[in-house]
Amino acid sequence: RLNPPPVRAQRAPHAVLNTPVSDAAVHALVDEIVAQRMASAAEGHDESAFFAADLGAIYDAVQTWRASPIGDRVELFYAVKCNPSPMVLHLLSLLGTSFDCASTAEFNAVLALPSAPSPDRVIFANPCKPASFIRNAAAAGVDMMTFDNADELHKIKRAHPGAKLVLRILTDDSKSLCRLGLKFGAPLDTCASLLALAKQLELNVIGVSFHVGSGCKDKAQFADAVWRAKKVFGMAEKAGYDFKFLDIGGGFERETFADMSEVVKESLDLYFPAEEGVRVIAEPGRFLVSSAFTLATSIIARRRALDAPAADAAADTSSPEVMYYINDGVYGSFNCIMFDHQIVHPYPLTIGAEPAPSAARPAFPPPPNVQLERDLTVQLGYADNERASVWGPTCDSIDCVRSLVHLPRGVEVGDWIGWGEMGAYTLCAASTFNGFDRSPVHWTTGGDTVNGRKVRAVLDAFEQQ
Ligand code: PLP
Repeated sequence: RLNPPPVRAQRAPHAVLNTPVSDAAVHALVDEIVAQRMASAAEGHDESAFFAADLGAIYDAVQTWRASPIGDRVELFYAVKCNPSPMVLHLLSLLGTSFDCASTAEFNAVLALPSAPSPDRVIFANPCKPASFIRNAAAAGVDMMTFDNADELHKIKRAHPGAKLVLRILTDDSKSLCRLGLKFGAPLDTCASLLALAKQLELNVIGVSFHVGSGCKDKAQFADAVWRAKKVFGMAEKAGYDFKFLDIGGGFERETFADMSEVVKESLDLYFPAEEGVRVIAEPGRFLVSSAFTLATSIIARRRALDAPAADAAADTSSPEVMYYINDGVYGSFNCIMFDHQIVHPYPLTIGAEPAPSAARPAFPPPPNVQLERDLTVQLGYADNERASVWGPTCDSIDCVRSLVHLPRGVEVGDWIGWGEMGAYTLCAASTFNGFDRSPVHWTTGGDTVNGRKVRAVLDAFEQQ
């Protein structure tokens, strides 16, 4: 690891960050659908799981970015992979966001939107692409693309010689949930020779990109990465390039965004002052969509836990007393537990077929606190909690959503459990293993909230064009 530059993070007066979005709309939608399903119980009610998605929360995230210390400098290129729902892409496009795509299917989806952006609002940010995808990008007019190795340069020379290339560099991602550096990014000591080769091939390299890892927990990683990028700008100058483009990738989370954006601003001011005219973009995924999606699941089965302690149950706090089986799991929307290293937090929507008190709703977004479920149940007055494990519906025992969590006693088969912060890396990687459908999405524009009215206005203005 190279020496990082000093980080002199100060708290700037950007108190508007992390203001909670109004959660009323999404909760109202969840309640409405759950109530409908419970009411039709007599006719054999539909217990299937569903997402409720609030476009107002996505609007709020975009505004939070734009009001942040980096908002007027760093352009948004939404990472489509994170949640490619057409409604999400459509709203983001209308809000002026550009897109980071990783495949032909992704840029085709973006360019086929009713609100399709021009192809120069797309970056093909996958450093190792099939040659056919590069040809497809050329045909679609998608010119900006990343590379991190010599073979990619030769491929691009053959398939899209006019591309605008961005060198993806390796940065420290050791404190991130998902370490992308294990797979991508040119180490600094290879960058000079890659740039020399690009020059020899007469390719147009315009700048540098990095990704500090998804779910970045350490702001020093951003400072270090910007510093590394500056080094590579120096190498480029020696190779005969005049870089004017920096892509700082993704990795942002709402909970820590105030701190992260402070550090990024400080590093940019230090190494890439605005007057030097370097265009800076970012590729956030999770930050823009995570809070917007809530998943509602119903309990389809219940058993006493196999190893439930009999005599001193009260004293034992380390094993579950009861096992709940729900109708979405690790092979479905909760694939984020395996692939995205998430800990998900349940809260009751109904208890014993009655709506749970509305106070039972978690803060929005919930803090990233592994004790959250305990805090919630205690704080919400569920004195009588049960230690539970929660399982998905498939026949595989890997399909465990939580191995130990606190839920109020009295939750039964047919009751509903909610899960917040489910918008990122969930739906997009869900399978239908064992014949269980993917959970469908029900949308709200945000209802009669400030954000809701603004989203409606944006969508209406587009429809009236
Ligand atoms: N950009 C690239 C190249 C990525 O691979 C990813 C995630 O894997 C992202 C952006 C989005 O990252 P995040 O959702 O952490 O913001």
